[in-house]
Amino acid sequence: MISAIRGTHDILPGEVERWQGLERVTRELCACYGFRELRTPIIEREELFAKGTGQTTDIVQKEMYTFEDKGGERVTLRPEATPSMVRAFFEHALEQRLPAAKVFSLGPMFRYERPQKGRYRQFHQLDVEVFGEPGASLDAEMIEMASSLVSSLGIESSDIVINSVGCESCRSQFNQALLDALGNKLDQLCPDCQRRAKTNPLRIYDCKVLSDQPIIDELPHSVDHLCADCNNHFCEVRTYLDAYELDYRVSHRLVRGLDYYTRTTFEVLGEQLGAQNALLGGGRYDGLVRQLGGPSREGIGFAAGLERLVLAMPEEVEGRGVDVFIVALGENTKKQAHVLARDLRQQGLVTLIDYNVRSLRAQMKRADRTSARAAIILGDDELSRGEVTIKFMETGEQTTVARTDILQQLSQ
Ligand code: AMP
Repeated sequence: MISAIRGTHDILPGEVERWQGLERVTRELCACYGFRELRTPIIEREELFAKGTGQTTDIVQKEMYTFEDKGGERVTLRPEATPSMVRAFFEHALEQRLPAAKVFSLGPMFRYERPQKGRYRQFHQLDVEVFGEPGASLDAEMIEMASSLVSSLGIESSDIVINSVGCESCRSQFNQALLDALGNKLDQLCPDCQRRAKTNPLRIYDCKVLSDQPIIDELPHSVDHLCADCNNHFCEVRTYLDAYELDYRVSHRLVRGLDYYTRTTFEVLGEQLGAQNALLGGGRYDGLVRQLGGPSREGIGFAAGLERLVLAMPEEVEGRGVDVFIVALGENTKKQAHVLARDLRQQGLVTLIDYNVRSLRAQMKRADRTSARAAIILGDDELSRGEVTIKFMETGEQTTVARTDILQQLSQ
């Protein structure tokens, strides 16, 4: 057998019901906050991510599934949703058409990463984005929404982490402060960090190399290098979070692996998830829309990893069980048994049937294996009287009723 590609996974029956539950809760929550769904293609021009996600990010440098299509165009399987959401939102002038510039999307993303628990090459994200709103109260609302998402999925223990990475003007001063603090210790950092120091020093904070950490721990913090406006903004975000009575902590390491963030960044971490513990992450990106050729609009959003949410969700969500297994006795009743199956399905019952003619015993065994609540037995006699025999599988109790009374009998 040909097996699935490394880093991809099938979502199996039994598991898929948890996904459906997650998607239902997610859609309801997004609607309550005024978000409308926007579905974009999973394939886009490479340029969109090179410009949007950022040339200096690990995603663009190492992880994209990019290839030339048969027409010679460089295309990429989306590694994240934000650039596509920005593109689609402004390409279709949704600003004029929606009551609020709030959109969300659910779907697969692709990154060529080293697979491990909670980290895949094809994974799924909920992505929420808001455009054209500079106010700090929105930053706090997004963090509150992220926290509500996690708790409405029944995930009880999580940790909200925030930071501010400043704006274009204070960022360059902070980058310089980083380089100054590094001085000649730069030579001791990994080759990736040496490259980051040249292209985007802030990205040094993305480094996971163990031996680099003591040096990185000593580096300055972006919150200590904010300009007055960014500092006020961050303070205001915090006062709103306090009004929501949300528990959170500030972490100077939270610079997020994407280039476009400005000011507020945040993550919600799950407990008991191991190394890949970020359930979701996001932040403000006031320059991105413009950078992608759109109008001058602020942006803020977050992306939640659905695989990680499913892993963190409590166990109890289960699929719908089988209500009825229809047992047909003899060739003559078979057609009527199928018609009955259709009728019961139209009335909303999960109904299974045997497609072969087998003995009563063999069919009852199958009924038992499906854990059906009841077996409905249809023989020639029952057929001629317009009746069926219902056997409740758990108690073994058996009763004969008119075909028209099945639903009533089963709902008792
Ligand atoms: P990012 O788009 O990198 O900001 O990630 C946002 C969220 O998506 C993370 O907090 C994870 O929950 C999830 N995520 C990111 N990369 C992966 C991956 N390779 N596999 C599974 N989930 C991921």
